[in-house]
Amino acid sequence: MSDNKYVYFFGPDYTDGDGSMRPLLGGKGANLAEMAKIGLPVPAGFTITTEVCTYFYANGQQYPPELKAQVAEAMAGIEKVMGKKLGDTEALPLLVSCRSGARDSMPGMMDTVLNIGLNDKTVEVLAKKSGDERFAWDCYRRFVQMYGRVVLDMKPKCKTDHCPFEDLLDAKKKKAGVEVDSELKAEYLKELVVEFKAAVKNQTGLDFPEDPMEQVWGGIGAVFSSWMNDRAIVYRRMNGIPHDWGTAVNVQAMVFGNMGETCATGVAFTRDGATGKKGIVGDYLFNAQGEDVVAGIRMPHRIEISMAEELPQVWEEFSKVAMILENHYKDIQDVEFTIENQKLWMLQTRNAKRTGFAHVRSAVDMVNEGLITPEKAIARIPANDLTQLLQPVFSGEGLKGRTPLAKGINAGPGAATGQIYFQPDEAEAVWQKDNNAKIILVRHETTPEDLRGMKVSAGILTSSGGAASHAALVGRQMGKAVVCGCDQVKINYKDETVTASGKVFKKGDWISIDGFSGCVYEGQVPTSPSEVLQVLFAKTLKPKDAPIYQCFQQLMSWSDRYRKLAVRANADTPHEAEQAIALGAQGIGLTRTEHMFFDRIDDFRAMILADNVEDRQKALEPLLKYQQEDFEGVFRAMNGRPVTIRLLDPPLHEFVPHEAREQEALAKKLGIPKEKIVQRVKDLAEFNPMLGHRGCRLGIVYPEITRMQATAICRAAVNVMKDGIDCHPEIMVPLPGNANEFKHQEGVIRDAAKKVFEEEGITPDYMVGTMIELPRACVTADKIAENAEFFSFGTNDLTQTGLGISRDDYGSYINEYQELDIFAADPFQTLDQEGVGELMKIAIEKGKKTRPGIKLGICGEHGGDPASVKFCHKVGLDYVSCSPLRLPVARLAAAQAAIADAK
Ligand code: ADP
Ligand code: MG
Ligand code: MG
Repeated sequence: MSDNKYVYFFGPDYTDGDGSMRPLLGGKGANLAEMAKIGLPVPAGFTITTEVCTYFYANGQQYPPELKAQVAEAMAGIEKVMGKKLGDTEALPLLVSCRSGARDSMPGMMDTVLNIGLNDKTVEVLAKKSGDERFAWDCYRRFVQMYGRVVLDMKPKCKTDHCPFEDLLDAKKKKAGVEVDSELKAEYLKELVVEFKAAVKNQTGLDFPEDPMEQVWGGIGAVFSSWMNDRAIVYRRMNGIPHDWGTAVNVQAMVFGNMGETCATGVAFTRDGATGKKGIVGDYLFNAQGEDVVAGIRMPHRIEISMAEELPQVWEEFSKVAMILENHYKDIQDVEFTIENQKLWMLQTRNAKRTGFAHVRSAVDMVNEGLITPEKAIARIPANDLTQLLQPVFSGEGLKGRTPLAKGINAGPGAATGQIYFQPDEAEAVWQKDNNAKIILVRHETTPEDLRGMKVSAGILTSSGGAASHAALVGRQMGKAVVCGCDQVKINYKDETVTASGKVFKKGDWISIDGFSGCVYEGQVPTSPSEVLQVLFAKTLKPKDAPIYQCFQQLMSWSDRYRKLAVRANADTPHEAEQAIALGAQGIGLTRTEHMFFDRIDDFRAMILADNVEDRQKALEPLLKYQQEDFEGVFRAMNGRPVTIRLLDPPLHEFVPHEAREQEALAKKLGIPKEKIVQRVKDLAEFNPMLGHRGCRLGIVYPEITRMQATAICRAAVNVMKDGIDCHPEIMVPLPGNANEFKHQEGVIRDAAKKVFEEEGITPDYMVGTMIELPRACVTADKIAENAEFFSFGTNDLTQTGLGISRDDYGSYINEYQELDIFAADPFQTLDQEGVGELMKIAIEKGKKTRPGIKLGICGEHGGDPASVKFCHKVGLDYVSCSPLRLPVARLAAAQAAIADAK
């Protein structure tokens, strides 16, 4: 026989394990051991390791042969410490709980059985020796109920199934004429036990086990089996917990919160998990056991309000224990405890789950209290949580009593309430009449044509299109709340209605969307504005009056100290550029010039409709002026920081009018026959526009467009330099897959630049580089780098072309793919490191070989995704660029990557 150790004891006199042994003992077991070790009052017990769980599943649900003896020995250890024996029919019997405990907590996913060791004999002894008959029978009826549900598999299988135990309990309360179960007298509880056992016999055909040790093993088996129950599997998939970790089992001496009015059970946070504010918060419930306190059967008391008064001694000890735990774990603790006759027992502790607000506030406070280092604070906060601090939010108060109408993809963080509009131009008209109008734009999906309508909306709701759809990307960059791909809402443009949960909403009706959760609500849900943005953007708050802002700023300055990656923003206007700087941008990584054209759409259309070079040249003139002004504005706002400008990228078809009404209006305006427009629109149509005539392919066929844009950029640069403002334009060619494509465009750009600089006698420091968006560009990056001075990875398109997945169409199957664990994450949200990431590595290596100092960045949406930012750090990019509101996330994630690297 081997001497494998499968059982770890914990108790007041000796403890085998400790808090560092989570993988082996599970979170609960490791922390019970740790608490026992540092001398806190923990009922004695033992932990059966996760290795046994692994063995159990690898061996047809059998245990390792050594286990039996080790459990027996540990059980004897508990008996010794507690001075009680399991199954004792003479003296007060020992009762135990059998508790699950995975490495990462999986709240409510697995099972626990309390009061093991009771049978028809021991219950009598318990009643007699404790002097409390009601208590003994309360434990017994709970035990039969839990054992029946968990071990004998009598849990209701679906929502409409009845739980026989609950039904019997309800009937009994009715019969006794009481509201809550704590009022049931012993005689009724006795009857219940008999009825419960009959229900067990009736449903399972089994007699309820009387032997305490058989009960213990039943509990152990049930906990191991619960690892593979359906909801546990689903939970692990959602939270990225591997299925092969297994759970541990904890067997622990019972302590009793249900022995009368000097007893209670409770849960607490050592600091507020919603706000992070210092000070214990929590609930306790007199004369109750285990989960009663959170089950909502009776109203619990608030620890911070009444414990000091109602249980002064316990409060004194409990607040000390909470302090000890926080100082020990150096993090907010979420604890369970029981009070037995004024004596405090600790039953669980773990790092508390919390909101982004609580994360930031508590981490910064703890640094200032000297509890943790700034590195630790940075490492601890999930970077994505920072977006919560920037968005108006639906407060818990406001959501009370509301159920979502529908749920889509939470694409743009934020909460928005507004009136429904379906047509972007109508939304714009409404807004022009009233700049305070609150609008939710509701579309099947959005396109660049809808930009102006999107701009005036508080939120955008689409029924199709995934996490990287136009609505998601552009809406988010604009800082809108976006819920997309919400196929539970049915939109009818013709009737101007949207139907959800069987309710019909008309144009002008109010709805609310929550871009954090993806939920859609009826009516106006009240919001509160982001404090951070009130300080940074609106300047309606002073930093000294804004505690959340102060914490945020502190965290950001620490992050900036550690990170190696620079951060830039994707921004198209001076306004966005200013916001980006306020949020820490060190430059612009992507200015999309087409957004500028949408504001002068008809001039741009005239250019597209021109059928010869001369006409096109003429049509380009007014555009040159506009673009130059736009670039000047952005350069001024960026005040010397580098600005990457991408030349025209989308297919021209996106810019021309598609509806007869609009085509007619344009014909009139430009003074050309309508047929000509219809024909041109037809000519431009493509089967697969994303792989069509776009990117540098436009500039190659129409070099005059590239020339115009390069001239506008260079003139703008010269103009701001004349005003004494430094300027570093980086002109970016989109979508080349072949070095010759880039060389062609570079030639046009350099010619135009030379001309401007010679005319003006000023030469700014500028660069010409390219976006890397095609696999072919990656594998030929050495050739492209002969001429390109920088690479910026356009990972939206690189994902699209690398995976062969259209980001406009993947919504219909991506969920299945994630369900089936084929994709761990949405590749348009989190960079596919083993595929697209490898392509990037090839491009980086080849690019550097040709041009060692080549500047490297990323401007796809992944630039604001924490895991992707960490990857960018690892492969040695110089910067990441993302939408302005993602900047804090990128700054924090970059610091986390640098800190992890230094270890
Ligand atoms: P979960 O994993 O769902 O939190 P637990 O194993 O923590 O389940 O147990 C459920 C409830 O029973 C908790 O409230 C816990 O505090 C209580 N409990 C567990 N073991 C004991 C015990 N030995 N004595 C008293 N209460 C216990
Ligand atoms: Mg628990
Ligand atoms: Mg692209």
